[in-house]
Amino acid sequence: MPTLKFAVLAGDYIGPEVMTEALRVLEHVAKSENLTLSYTQADVGGAGIDHHGKALPDSTLKTCEAADAILFGSVGGPKWEKLPPKEQPERAALLPLRKHFTLFANIRPGLLYRELTDASPLKSERIPDGIDIVCIRELTGGLYFGLPKQTTTLPDGDLQAVDTMVYKKSEIERILQVAITTARARKKKLCSVDKANVLETSVLWRKTVVDFMAKHAPDIALSHMYVDNAAMQLARDPNQFDVFVTENMFGDILSDEMAVICGSLGMLSSASLGAGKNSLGLPFGLYEPAGGTAPDIAGMGIANPCAQVLSAALMLRFSFGLDALATRIEAAVKKAVTSGTRTGDIAFGKPSVGTKAMTDAIIAQL
Ligand code: NAD
Repeated sequence: MPTLKFAVLAGDYIGPEVMTEALRVLEHVAKSENLTLSYTQADVGGAGIDHHGKALPDSTLKTCEAADAILFGSVGGPKWEKLPPKEQPERAALLPLRKHFTLFANIRPGLLYRELTDASPLKSERIPDGIDIVCIRELTGGLYFGLPKQTTTLPDGDLQAVDTMVYKKSEIERILQVAITTARARKKKLCSVDKANVLETSVLWRKTVVDFMAKHAPDIALSHMYVDNAAMQLARDPNQFDVFVTENMFGDILSDEMAVICGSLGMLSSASLGAGKNSLGLPFGLYEPAGGTAPDIAGMGIANPCAQVLSAALMLRFSFGLDALATRIEAAVKKAVTSGTRTGDIAFGKPSVGTKAMTDAIIAQL
């Protein structure tokens, strides 16, 4: 009986609420598919600070190292907002996890079902068939990690801060491999987003993309777009993209814009794949919802569990090679949601069912 060994880091506020539901879905499919789930739960974020004095406790890191994948909830919230920036749950847990496991490839599906177009802030006539695009964001390079990164006092007493945007050709090629695989599994269309008219890193980015794609993926229709235009085009006609690939900060901003036009944070999943392989020879990865801890609705039993369930499906696909099973879960979520079962997610208007009932509806479709 195949064993799926993963770490469960539920985090804070609605994190544990939606994680419970994702685990319920996994337990259900494991039973029907004769799979054994072997998972260990560990504190992270605010829970890590409260129980171990650290957002990413050493014991949690060890649990992750012993696993083939990490199923992550979300971290942070008002309780820890007064801590210094460097100790904030998100910064002190997620960034070190990304760095430790070299989680360089963030894959974020931007999905809005045709039946739910009214949940998007875009006019329905712009997205008659909903939205179905993918953002591939480089996650361990660029401004967020480049050095020097510091604030200094100048001789005249003025303060000066510096962040460094740095990319190596090999880092660009590495993320391109992921973009190529993703594009090949879809419409064989890839848009590379940069700012090559201004930034040196973008000039290297574009040259590397052109050379690498010509050599390794001539079958894929490649286009380029400046990031400012990409932000406009996403709001104008998102489906002109199929897969787009971009560097860390541009991807941070564009993927959030994508989340907004897709109508509901409660529906969007993501995968962050590592450079290393797990014990099955597949990519080690961290899988998490696009949204945060939603403190405003925590404890009310109305958080939308779909993003966490869909993140678990991505884990099955990428880190355990169970593509068909992942597709089955994705189809079950779609059927449950489009058949009128909705949670209290503000994007969906009035709550019709709670978190648990939403999961029941998903399980009923499996
Ligand atoms: P948020 O994503 O938590 O919430 C924004 C809005 O979306 C809220 O109205 C919330 O109720 C709603 N929402 C989000 N997920 C939902 C779900 N599953 N079901 C129903 N509604 C949902 O963003 P925020 O309010 O800016 O941040 C709250 C906390 O989460 C902050 O501490 C922030 O730092 C943290 N955060 C963590 C992560 C992460 O762990 N990766 C990501 C983003 C924000």
